[in-house]
Amino acid sequence: MITYKANFFDVAKNVYFKKNSPVSLIHFLTNRCNARCSFCFIDFNNPNTFKGELTISEIEKLTKNLGNSLINVNFTGGEPFARKDITDIAKLYIKNSTIQSLYITTNASLPERIINFAKEINEYDKNIELCFQISIDDMPEKHNKVRKLDNLFENCLFTYRELKKLNKKNINPVVSITVTHENCENIEEIFHYFTDICKIDSLKCCLVRDEGVYSRPKSKIDKIIKAYDLLTNKILDYQKKNKIINYNSNSIQGRINNKKDRISWNLVKRIYSNNEYISPCHASSLFGIITADGKLYPCEILEDKMIGSLRDVNMDLMKLWNGQNNQDIKNHILSTKCKCTYECGLSFNILGNWRYQLNLLSGLLSKY
Ligand code: SF4
Ligand code: SF4
Repeated sequence: MITYKANFFDVAKNVYFKKNSPVSLIHFLTNRCNARCSFCFIDFNNPNTFKGELTISEIEKLTKNLGNSLINVNFTGGEPFARKDITDIAKLYIKNSTIQSLYITTNASLPERIINFAKEINEYDKNIELCFQISIDDMPEKHNKVRKLDNLFENCLFTYRELKKLNKKNINPVVSITVTHENCENIEEIFHYFTDICKIDSLKCCLVRDEGVYSRPKSKIDKIIKAYDLLTNKILDYQKKNKIINYNSNSIQGRINNKKDRISWNLVKRIYSNNEYISPCHASSLFGIITADGKLYPCEILEDKMIGSLRDVNMDLMKLWNGQNNQDIKNHILSTKCKCTYECGLSFNILGNWRYQLNLLSGLLSKY
């Protein structure tokens, strides 16, 4: 793990031994979204869903209280670009915290805003790695229909290509396919359309989860995991042929990330298919999530395990992180052998667990 603001030894000590400071946070900037996907977990019919978003001055305080190990923040939502002050929020994180990368999950319905954001943040700090995860799940017509937004597919593709055209080492757009009940039966056709016809060459995938107001139709559960299996095998095959490049496989970090993805795919399949507990989860220790209204949770799934409200502690995240309630939540996660297929969580569980280190290091020996 290479850092330029956080101290390497502090981060390593935290990740491998102490596990008491966040390395990555997911910040739901807003619950507002102009799409209405059939598998979305947000309850758009509840007026309270949109109340109490953190203000920019609250976020400024927050960014000053994130410990000394934070490497990454992931902006998500809702649609994070629905917040017009997203550029100011990003700058606050960069200025006040130790992050080295910023991931933004977007439906790409607002291309101009995204491209201007990328240029401005890259200008502000060229060392910050910006990764745009553009969600596209289906063929054009169906994608627009499922997400209930006209021209969305076209905007996604336009955004992806424009970000690529910027040709900056630290601006990386990647298309992310969520395998759902809607696309599981056509995943091969979708993959080939994206890669061979649309020439998308950075492509990842994740698996839909039961969450919030969404639950997978029982009749589709087997089909969803089979589609995920097929898709991950296709991605690996195209990586070997250099038709998909998600990381720089000539760099140490790129090779480790490629290996980490493969370990994660494998874990997802085992957990999903066999409901198997494999290794401890480091939610609440190494990663956590912040909701749009400033509540801190271990992850997106344990909705009844709030660590606390940031507003109650004057936005001092570390006060909640090191408090007794979080200790109780960590004990609960360990003692119940909590498990799920949450990819973000699995990434940090792999990086922070000794049992995967040899396997990760073996990634250095080959590109894929
Ligand atoms: S784009 Fe994301 S946040 Fe918006 S409705 Fe779809 S799944 Fe929900
Ligand atoms: S295993 Fe999943 S549900 Fe349990 S704490 Fe970790 S991320 Fe949350």
